[in-house]
Amino acid sequence: MSGILVVQEARGDGNARAFQETLAAGRLLAGLTGQAMEAAGIGDQNKDLFLHVTGTPPARAHAIRHPLLEKYTSDGYVLAFEQLIKKLAPDYVLFPHSYQVRDYVPRLATRFGKVMISDVTAIEAGPGFVRQLFQGKLSATYRPAGSGPCFVSIQSGAFRADAGGGGAMDIEEFAPEIDAAQIRTKPGEPFRGAAQTVDLGSAQRIVSVGRGIKEAENLPLVQALAEALGAELAASRPICDNGWLPMERQVGSSGHTVAPKLYLAVGISGAIQHLVGMKGSQCIVAINKDPDAPIFEVADYGIVGDLFEVVPALTEAVKAAK
Ligand SMILES: Cc1cc2nc3c(=O)[nH]c(=O)nc-3n(C[C@H](O)[C@H](O)[C@H](O)COP(=O)(O)OP(=O)(O)OC[C@H]3O[C@@H](n4cnc5c(N)ncnc54)[C@H](O)[C@@H]3O)c2cc1C
Repeated sequence: MSGILVVQEARGDGNARAFQETLAAGRLLAGLTGQAMEAAGIGDQNKDLFLHVTGTPPARAHAIRHPLLEKYTSDGYVLAFEQLIKKLAPDYVLFPHSYQVRDYVPRLATRFGKVMISDVTAIEAGPGFVRQLFQGKLSATYRPAGSGPCFVSIQSGAFRADAGGGGAMDIEEFAPEIDAAQIRTKPGEPFRGAAQTVDLGSAQRIVSVGRGIKEAENLPLVQALAEALGAELAASRPICDNGWLPMERQVGSSGHTVAPKLYLAVGISGAIQHLVGMKGSQCIVAINKDPDAPIFEVADYGIVGDLFEVVPALTEAVKAAK
């Protein structure tokens, strides 16, 4: 038994970014363990992703094909991956942490007498899989005991997809044996966390506003900064709960996880539920009048000041610099 298998999200767009991030986690694990990495995915629709990876591609990809897998069911997916994993016998199986994965992978893991180590944010030598507990107040490292397979899901935004390089993998077809009687569920419409008019997940720059803005009438101030920077506008939860901005713009544990190049937090305290959604950003800038606000603990640059003075000045400076 050896090797690392990285599994794609099976949905229309293959959740390309999550797959690339999971591959980056897989490469790190491969470096730590000296094991080879392969990839797997269901159906034809995501086959393109096997051809367009960034970073060193896995040597081989397994395209799982069966008419009963055209629509997602946990029964079908468990059966298919159980057979593939038994055939390949990998030590580690890595998944992007998605609604779908949360649904079927714990059951898949129990078929092997294992559990899923979920929401992993870092991988240490050993290997140890790091995940947060109690809304991020504690961080725990899990070191799997015994032999594989070890099932791990990777938190979105925790690993950066490798840039450049890339290439195609050799694709092998895998046809599992599945009987219609084994599928006990009828697939409904796939769940979407938020309407997809804005894709915060792939935004390069985000200006995010919190309760420090005080009233909805003041939002244009921050909107102007976002526009000047060519950034998407996002928010902490109270702003969306108040209906000042739509829920699809909420960042955090019950909103989106983002990892832009620039995350500018305006009047946001930095509660842990917010931090888990944005701390993977490459450069974090925080504007807050409280020098002890927890947001400054994760910020690369901090401006202690009144946002009603700082934000207009910053907007003017950005416009002038263009
Ligand atoms: C189960 C659960 C899930 C949650 N999910 C999320 C989530 O997904 N996303 C999320 O964001 N929160 C979430 N929360 C809420 C979270 O706990 C915080 O309440 C929330 O993030 C606080 O938002 P805030 O920082 O905008 O407001 P506050 O905590 O009120 O902070 C406002 C900040 O603005 C600063 N400020 C005030 N006036 C000015 C000024 N004039 N100039 C500059 N700074 C100023 C203050 O110093 C303060 O730091 C969740 C909570 C729970 C229990």
